[in-house]
Amino acid sequence: MIKIKKTKIVATLGPATESKKIKAKMVKNGVNVFRINFSHADYDTVAEQVKQIREIEKELDTPIAILADLQGPKLRIGKVEEGTFLKEGDTLTLSTKHKITTNNLNKEAYITYKQLPCDVKPGEIILVDDGKIQLQVEKTNKKDTVVTKVVEGGPLSSKKGVNLPNTNISLPALTKKDKKDLLFAIEQEVDWVALSFVRSAEDVELIKSIIKKHSDYQIPVISKIEKPEAVENINEIIQVTDGLMVARGDLGIEVPLEQVPLIQKRLVYLAKKHQKPIIIATQMMESMITGSIPTRAEVNDVANSVMDGADAVMLSGETSVGKNPVKVIKQITKIILQVENSNLIKLADWVPIPEKRDERFISEVICYNASEIARDVSAAVITTFTSSGFSAYKISARRPMAYILVFTAHQRLMRSLVLVWGVMPFFYDRLISTDDTIKDIEAIAKRNGFVQSEDMMVSVFSMPISKKGMVNTLRITQVD
Ligand code: PEP
Repeated sequence: MIKIKKTKIVATLGPATESKKIKAKMVKNGVNVFRINFSHADYDTVAEQVKQIREIEKELDTPIAILADLQGPKLRIGKVEEGTFLKEGDTLTLSTKHKITTNNLNKEAYITYKQLPCDVKPGEIILVDDGKIQLQVEKTNKKDTVVTKVVEGGPLSSKKGVNLPNTNISLPALTKKDKKDLLFAIEQEVDWVALSFVRSAEDVELIKSIIKKHSDYQIPVISKIEKPEAVENINEIIQVTDGLMVARGDLGIEVPLEQVPLIQKRLVYLAKKHQKPIIIATQMMESMITGSIPTRAEVNDVANSVMDGADAVMLSGETSVGKNPVKVIKQITKIILQVENSNLIKLADWVPIPEKRDERFISEVICYNASEIARDVSAAVITTFTSSGFSAYKISARRPMAYILVFTAHQRLMRSLVLVWGVMPFFYDRLISTDDTIKDIEAIAKRNGFVQSEDMMVSVFSMPISKKGMVNTLRITQVD
């Protein structure tokens, strides 16, 4: 029997992964999704990377998803002279009016965010460089200058990120840059879009409406949860988003670090309850940016994310600038497989039993029970045919032991499903009869090593078979 991992890997592209050969090796060793971080992307490089990924997809005959990660309203300080150091008790003035270069003498820094003096209040905290430097607002002229006291000092360098954990910032959810990047990502036919610093359900609705206006395919949206407001508004966000990312880098700056693990658990549970995919991101294998083996804590972190039920784990610096991206993928795949093979992942109880008798009720009940029936007959696979992805998401959320083979006639949907736990998507558009389709599916499953003779297969489909029908039938077959 083949052993393909069910938890997916998202790998961030960067200088370390520019070569097509490296990307192909990463895919062969377990990468399912490549992430383009638009905080550091130039369009020519992105277009070349997308072209290469589509070529690799064909050469390896495996769908690969591309996730366009938009920067969102990220604040940064301006230019800083090398060797600049802020001492505890220093006064640092933040200015929005001119692009001064900060050094040890002037203790004034340019900040890109024009509204800062109006948004902050005395006493509020401003964090710079992932929270390594802590400033406290002393006064603001409400126009162009904010005077701060250094609470936690350290070396300061150019373009470092700024976080305002206690401030309600008035920046729009999508900056001008994000809109431009989004249109470019749509043009490149990416499979998922992630929005950074989401604060409310309206932010998600806004980006979805822009996608709707500019793309004939509704690219699904991942909301990156990294602001306290997002955690507060999560029950509304989960209703409208297509997926979540626990963006632990900025989240760990914006909320006290010790709260991150509990927020992570809560978000995973909520995402699964709503049958939407969730990615755990940042510092999963951080030490492998420079080192050749992960720390024990990193191994534990990855393993626990898998046990908790994440759809995907994400690598950032490890693959974008790390010294050996392929090695990182090999390592993280080994950790994932070890946990998945332990049988510690049980049929999940987080999906509510379908009760709402709406038009999807029959499909919901079938998808809900497919995993139990598959367990009862020890099925090797659960198969489904989908035009919307609905049944794939529903079945996956229960975390069955069986692989979920998903057949669809929509190539873009097929690619987006690559991110979803346990789902192995296939392109299939030969709809003749239910019997024919089941035979075809069995042959494809066999050819790809997911089943062998006498294995049990649970198939859900619509009867009569059609490209748009809702699942209304469940069949158990034994492979010839
Ligand atoms: C994060 O903050 O954890 C994250 C994934 O976002 P970015 O890499 O854009 O900082």
